[in-house]
Amino acid sequence: MSGKTLAALKVAPSTTELREMDLPDLPPDAALLKVEVAGVCGTDVSQYRLPLRNGPLIMGHENVGYLARVGRLFAKYKGVKEGDLMFLEHYLPCGHCEWDHMGEYRHCAATEWFYDPTAIRYGYTSIATPPSLWGGFSHYLYLPLNAVLHKVPEGLTPEQAGVATPMSNGIQWALIDGGVGYGSRVLIQGPGQQGLCCLMASKQAGAETIIVTGTSADTKRLEVANRLGADAVIDVQKEDALARIQEVTGGHGVDVAIDCTSGAGTAPTLLAIEAMKRRAGTMIVQGEGNQEFPSFPIGRMTRKGITLKSARGHSYRAVELGLHQLASRRFPLELITTHRFGLSEVDYAIKSVGGQGAPDAIHVSIMPWK
Ligand SMILES: [Zn+2]
Ligand SMILES: [Zn+2]
Repeated sequence: MSGKTLAALKVAPSTTELREMDLPDLPPDAALLKVEVAGVCGTDVSQYRLPLRNGPLIMGHENVGYLARVGRLFAKYKGVKEGDLMFLEHYLPCGHCEWDHMGEYRHCAATEWFYDPTAIRYGYTSIATPPSLWGGFSHYLYLPLNAVLHKVPEGLTPEQAGVATPMSNGIQWALIDGGVGYGSRVLIQGPGQQGLCCLMASKQAGAETIIVTGTSADTKRLEVANRLGADAVIDVQKEDALARIQEVTGGHGVDVAIDCTSGAGTAPTLLAIEAMKRRAGTMIVQGEGNQEFPSFPIGRMTRKGITLKSARGHSYRAVELGLHQLASRRFPLELITTHRFGLSEVDYAIKSVGGQGAPDAIHVSIMPWK
């Protein structure tokens, strides 16, 4: 292995540059991951447009690769060896708080990159923080001892294992947070990779009725939703979504509604409140940025006894369940692994996920060695 690595650097808003970077000297309690696949997610689309916070950075936070070099202590404490195929979570937790002991690394204060400038998260951290290799859009990535790794089960290709992030979110949001189970009626808004993974998780858990919504730009994705087992798909621009949901659920409404839309404003939340069953449903929401919500119908929500929860990443357990779900091959994953690009195409890959590059992208992989 040479002392250099090639990386795609975000050097300004919506601007990427290839750069050769130094590989660090490896302390005994660290390792290097040879990145095989770095998934591009919806968060990358919004992050890519923002100004730099602390200088250039290597994006890419959904990473799968082979352990290329493993320090002696890293091997001992992590139970891994060179050559192992691993899925890497993007959180770098403190390792000793209560959240970490529960596998809820997303809640650890050390991963709070949005408020804490010293917090490190893969795909969000400037190259000014040594040793710079904190993103997957690169040949190699640095792993300190607090990196959170999962062994990829036998039989999964690195590209398929790259679906672990949206899949674990699907399991977290639909099953663990939303409580979807046998007989549930579920509304999933947005047929992108997150929505489709919520669909697969709900289907696997025995949901009775699964409704997936999208826009006219989502025709292909809604077709995929059908093939993955949705009971109804709705184009909200062509149909009265609420009327269809009432019809499909026999006037009952849904038990659980999950918002997997992007850039749709307040409409999905308002639709979910109305589509919810008469009493005690659960809504999983996500606000993009610091979005305003004028005239939020809190009275209506309260009268229906709705529980409101936020979709925020995944737990350690959700990732383990996600990897095993993928390895079970119960669903045709090739329907969602739609695009793969090399390091020099990172800009186009991110734009494709944002609907402005290659058409009909669902899960998009950067393959740095392609
Ligand atoms: Zn993401
Ligand atoms: Zn912690």
